[in-house]
Amino acid sequence: MALREVWDSDNLPTMRNVVILGATGSIGRSARSVARAMPERMRIVGMSAHSNADALAEAAMEFPEARTVVSGGDGGAERLVELATMPEADLVLVAIVGTAGLQPALAAIEAGKDLAVASKEILVMAGEAVMEAARRKGVNILPVDSEHSAIFQCLGGRDASAVRRLILTCSGGPFRQTPASQLAAVTPEMALRHPTWSMGPKITIDSATMMNKALELIEARWLFDVGIDRIDVVVHPQSIVHSMVEFVDHSILAQLGESDMCLPIQCAVTWPKRLPNAMRPLDFARLGKLDFEAPRCADFPALDLARLAGDQGGALPAVLNAANEVAVEAFLAGHLPFPGIWRVVEGVMDACPRVEHPTLEELLAADAEARRLAAGLVG
Ligand code: NDP
Ligand code: MG
Repeated sequence: MALREVWDSDNLPTMRNVVILGATGSIGRSARSVARAMPERMRIVGMSAHSNADALAEAAMEFPEARTVVSGGDGGAERLVELATMPEADLVLVAIVGTAGLQPALAAIEAGKDLAVASKEILVMAGEAVMEAARRKGVNILPVDSEHSAIFQCLGGRDASAVRRLILTCSGGPFRQTPASQLAAVTPEMALRHPTWSMGPKITIDSATMMNKALELIEARWLFDVGIDRIDVVVHPQSIVHSMVEFVDHSILAQLGESDMCLPIQCAVTWPKRLPNAMRPLDFARLGKLDFEAPRCADFPALDLARLAGDQGGALPAVLNAANEVAVEAFLAGHLPFPGIWRVVEGVMDACPRVEHPTLEELLAADAEARRLAAGLVG
């Protein structure tokens, strides 16, 4: 990903005026603590919540200059677009779970704002459109997902022409060592207990099914313009190596750190500069060792589904993502067994008509159709 030219000069922005879409979530809270820690570099000018007006009001007490928007209810989508395009903003952090952040993200790009993207779902659904719009408008897409931030940092602003492969690391989730025969008995409570990261419920379930890594394969494909056949996944239970880039000469760069989303958020805000912070330094002697193992693709079919979606392209990644959102909700509500999540996604991917080179409208239609089919399979 080639960064906008101005970033190569000394003429770097010192203060970033940031809108946080999804300010009340797990990423939103981390973003607010980054702003609190570096007020000379990050000014929050806008924040949204979907339904949690109390949490938004509390956030507004700390950042009283910020405009606030509740996106639930009538006209919520327009209010999000207005917030994402407000003239004072120069960076929009998309931290909304699911695909509701897509339209405001595209509107922000059109308005010339840089985008910091936590919401992998919007890149899975419409990564090609988002990246194309960003190229056309000359704005930066800064990854916040920890693996993609790691790759972005390893690339150091260079494009992917010297890359042999990208290596995404993966904690393996709470069921890394659970025998396949016991997965049918997994309850939402068990799946919500992630071993290394504290996150919102949807991504925590995605981590347990490996669907999170599946979405991240497709996310990486668009962010870095590297074919999905050149993106590998390795399980690394300690979540210290956040991801790696192997260059054509077989040299590998990795990014390491504690599992704390404040770091990728800070990197996106200050990039390409680095700023000191109060994070705990890595203690290698205490860590002792770092482990790596192959993912259990046969027992956790999410990665194979993502490779299929990535290879076929078209609207299939959008279909995979939409079916997964419905299946995860059904699992959390107790209406679907844990392995049913994969079955619903696979069933919907089989049933959905193929669409080549979809327009944005066709992607939205495929998303809606996949949700309808998934609801039918769940019911
Ligand atoms: P949370 O569930 O904690 O927060 C979601 C946020 O989005 C809340 O502010 C919520 O508002 C808002 N929201 C929910 N639904 C809608 C909607 N339909 N329209 C508009 N806003 C909505 O999620 P996370 O912070 O965990 O995750 C956010 C995104 O970041 C996801 O895409 C996830 O995959 C990604 N991500 C998260 C990581 C993490 O560590 N948490 C790591 C890497 C990526 P309200 O509070 O009012 O419901
Ligand atoms: Mg991640």
